[in-house]
Formats: sequence, structure tokens, C-alpha cells
Amino acid sequence: MPLRQQEAALTDEYQSIMASCTIEFDGRTLNLYGIQKYFEHPDRAVRRAAVAAYSGFYASHEQRLEEIWQSLIEIRNQMGRNLGFEDYIPLGYMEQSRTDYGEEEVAAFRRQVLEELVPACSRFYEAQRRRLGLEKLCFHDEKVIFPDGNAKPAGDEDFMTGTARRMYREMSPETGEFIDFMLDHQLLDLKNRPGKASTGYMTSLPSLKAPFVFSCFNGTIFDMQVLTHELGHAFAGYMAMRSQPVSEYYGESTDIAEIHSMSMEQFAYPYAEWFFGPDADKFRFAHLQEALTFVPFGVAVDEFQHICYRNPSLTPRQRTLEWKKLEEKYLPWRDYDGDEFFGRGGWWYHKLHIYLYPFYYINYTLTTMGAMEYKSWAARDREGAWQSYLKLCRSGGSLGYLATLQQAGLTVPFGPGAVKKAVDYPCSILLEAIEQEG
Ligand SMILES: [Zn+2]
Repeated sequence: MPLRQQEAALTDEYQSIMASCTIEFDGRTLNLYGIQKYFEHPDRAVRRAAVAAYSGFYASHEQRLEEIWQSLIEIRNQMGRNLGFEDYIPLGYMEQSRTDYGEEEVAAFRRQVLEELVPACSRFYEAQRRRLGLEKLCFHDEKVIFPDGNAKPAGDEDFMTGTARRMYREMSPETGEFIDFMLDHQLLDLKNRPGKASTGYMTSLPSLKAPFVFSCFNGTIFDMQVLTHELGHAFAGYMAMRSQPVSEYYGESTDIAEIHSMSMEQFAYPYAEWFFGPDADKFRFAHLQEALTFVPFGVAVDEFQHICYRNPSLTPRQRTLEWKKLEEKYLPWRDYDGDEFFGRGGWWYHKLHIYLYPFYYINYTLTTMGAMEYKSWAARDREGAWQSYLKLCRSGGSLGYLATLQQAGLTVPFGPGAVKKAVDYPCSILLEAIEQEG
């Protein structure tokens, strides 16, 4: 308990440093979210300045952030030793409710990502450099996938929600019943308004067997993300609450839950024209590239944590250098264009999961494999993929990780060839589109 209290004080301090951020930029006072919007600005000089301002904030807090991380490593390793382990890592896995896989399986998965996905991602960014007409693609260009900007929604917020209703009715009888239930019972609170918390999530009211989604629309492609990702979580909850006998089984561990949401994003691709009109192809391309290129970063975040807990004698500068080495390994295209702090490995400080949610991050990459497998499956056999997805949603948290995947007919992402099987088809879609660009 005393270790838990110390840990909580330090993670609170990390969060309050992040919340304290005020950056004067473009004549406005911005927080960390506000400044990141400028990473997509059409003017390259503005993007570069925004990244420099963002980097400057973390650099100015580097010493305290190092100390907090050092203490968290010591405290968590002590928790592990108190329970008879050598360090925190085995306990960290237990805290993520991982009962049927461990460090070795996760390491095998990271190796597959390095071999199968990193080379393809390098090609996506090389194509992006050509598309943008740049001599070199810098970090501040990574979010700009098209020279003329991202896809724009074809209507206002009511249009988007109405279109989502049409899509879910068209998609299947189950999703049609679900979306009518959600809208008729006012279980979606999506529009922004003054004073509303700027966050988004799905939760549920188990006694009513009702999911609830909270978010803040902002008139960009993010709104589509809410209508598919968060509603994917909600649909899974809706199905599990009607299939499982006890409320403990309504929710599942996050290494399964994000398959529900990320797969719904993929099942929505054929309807992109309804939401984006002539921009539909741009939406699909950018969304798929982001989904795939996220994975190498995600496994780097996971490997970094293993290195830090296993080597507690590393100095802060050595640890930050370890992050730089991971970027060279997993993100070989990354170029911070002379930014001193990010250039020597400072990018990891922004990742709150490293401080707050140890060993959580790999979940997002494991679940991407499930979503990509459904994408390929649906291209071959839409009905088979959909029936499997329904089975996955209905099973809720009633089974362990491996058994949940197996009963839905999904591949366990650790086994030989699993990553290749999941990403080959989506990568080929992007590479074919890139080839057509000439
Ligand atoms: Zn999610």
C-alpha cells in the first residue's frame, strides 16, 4: 500500500505537469492538444514551429520527468520483488489480466512487426514524401498525408449521425436494432458544447443493458472515428449484455475490446462515400495508413518499458538514448529535422501510458492485428467475417484471451506468420494505390 501511494503521487504529478502546459502560439494560448492540431497545418513552417514549441515544453520539464520516471521504475520493481519476482515486469503483465501469454510471446510479436510491417511503413512514408513534393519527409510532415489536406465530412454533425444510422441499418439486422436503440433512448452524447469535458469513451448502464457513448464532435474525420470506434465498443457491449448471464462477463479485457472497435472502423469502409462523398478514397487511404504505421510505434513503446524495468541502473540520459535506438529500429523514416531534444530521444516523454499504465500499450497493436484480419476476411467472405465478429462481440469477457480469439476463428498474433497474415492484404491495398500515383 505505501508503494501504491507513492506511485499514485508520482503519476498525479506527471498529469499535473501535462495539464499545466500553456504554449503561446499563433496568437493564442494553447494546451498540449491545441498545439498538436498545428501538426497538420497546411503551411510547413507553421508545422515545424508547432513541433518545436511542443518539444520545448517537454525539454523544459526534462529533469523532473526523468526523476519521476526513475522513481516509478524503482517503486514498481520493488512491488515485483515484494511478490517474489525479479522486477516489475511479471507483475505488470498480471495487472493487465494476462493469464495466458507472457513476455516471450509479446517479444515474438514485436519481432514479427519489425520484419513484416516496418519495411512496408517505410515505403508508405517514402510515397508520402513524393506526394508532398518534399526533398525529405520530416516528423512535422508525417500527419500531412495529402498535399490538399485530409478528407472532410460531407455534412454537419446531424448529417453524420443520421448517416451512421443509415449505415448501421444497412450493415446487418443486429447493428440496425442497436443503432435504433441507441438513438431512440438518447444514449449518444456526441456534440460539443461549452464546458463539456474534452474526452470520448463508451461506458454502460448494465441494469438497463444499455451502452452509452460520450464524445465531442469537431467537424473533422475524427467524428467518423467516434461513430465507428466508440460505437463499435458500444455494439460489443450491447451484444454481450444480451448474451452473457452475469454482468461480470459483459466487459472484456482491453486486448480483446479494441478488436471490437477497430474492426468496426474497418467494416464501415464500404460506406465512406456516404460520409465523405468524393473524399471517400482519401479517407480510407489515410485511415488505413495511420492504422498500420501506428503499430511499429506501439511496439517501440512496449519494448522501451521492458528495457527500463529490466535495467534499472541505466541513467536517465542512457534511457532516452535507448528510446532513440528504438526509433532507429522501428521508425527508421523518423527525422526530427534538427530538433535537439527529440533528436536525442526525447519523444517518449509525451507518452502518458509509459508513466500511468505500464504494459498497456501493446494492446492497441495486438488488436490492430484482429481488425486487419477481419478486413482481409471480409474481402474474401463478408458474411463469414461478420458472423465471426458477432460471435466475438457476444462472448464478452466470458473467456480468456486465447480462447476468445479461437472461438471466433481469429489468429493468435504471437504465432509464426501471424503478423504477415494480418497485414499483407491491407499493406497491398496501400501499395497498389501508391503505384497508381506513379
Ligand atoms: Zn477504444
